[in-house]
Amino acid sequence: PAEGRPVLTAHNLLARYDGFTALAGVDLTVHPAQVTAIVGPNGAGKSTLFHCLAGTLRPSSGRIHYGEQDITHLPAHARTRLGIARTFQQLAVFPTLTVAENVQVGAEQGHVQDPAAVERTLRLLGLDGPLRSAPAAALPTGTLRRAELARALAGTPRVLLLDEPAAGLDNAEVMALARVLRALAADGTALLVVEHDLDLVADLADVVHVMAAGRIIASGPPDHVLDTLGAEEPAP
Ligand code: ADP
Ligand code: MG
Repeated sequence: PAEGRPVLTAHNLLARYDGFTALAGVDLTVHPAQVTAIVGPNGAGKSTLFHCLAGTLRPSSGRIHYGEQDITHLPAHARTRLGIARTFQQLAVFPTLTVAENVQVGAEQGHVQDPAAVERTLRLLGLDGPLRSAPAAALPTGTLRRAELARALAGTPRVLLLDEPAAGLDNAEVMALARVLRALAADGTALLVVEHDLDLVADLADVVHVMAAGRIIASGPPDHVLDTLGAEEPAP
């Protein structure tokens, strides 16, 4: 149930690497206060779609709108400034900076300049204790993912793009992540989440899109879409 206008819209996105077509015409809308999930096998084009939305890859055709504004040709840093934050499947924190310094960088690059954002974000993700002063390079995966999420959140984005946020997390960490993401959506943030953990998707998502071979092949509420998937490829 999508209420109101989408905050992010992709129209007929095509993307190529050399001759290879990684996105073959993707339409997508992302709404405030909703979790939109993208699932699909490796190589489906999920990360490529994220790169196009975030501005790190130029689509070969198609348009991207942020509200009414056409952002198809805006560079990544300008989209971050407008309120589109992202995390990376391959984590991208600054290894020599501390957790708090990484979050500070995120705050400075972000949409809203809020002096309280760094502390608020560190607290939200449980990074306000001794971890705040730890160099990012020394952290285990779960903590690194939290630090990267904190960096993305510190600029108070309106849209948050998360590429496999649960990868490498243990069960307790996945549950903590789900709590944070639910709270963000409840506050009005639009979340677009690529995720392999279908239990997490079922738990969080308002809408699920299934990608395969560069296209969205099915869309709907998780109970409907994930049941269809389960029928095709039984869980291990
Ligand atoms: P997903 O995130 O769904 O696993 P990707 O978007 O990473 O898929 O990749 C989609 C397809 O594009 C894959 O076949 C992948 O091998 C190819 N691809 C991704 N990145 C590159 C690249 N930098 N150069 C060439 N091919 C790429
Ligand atoms: Mg990927």
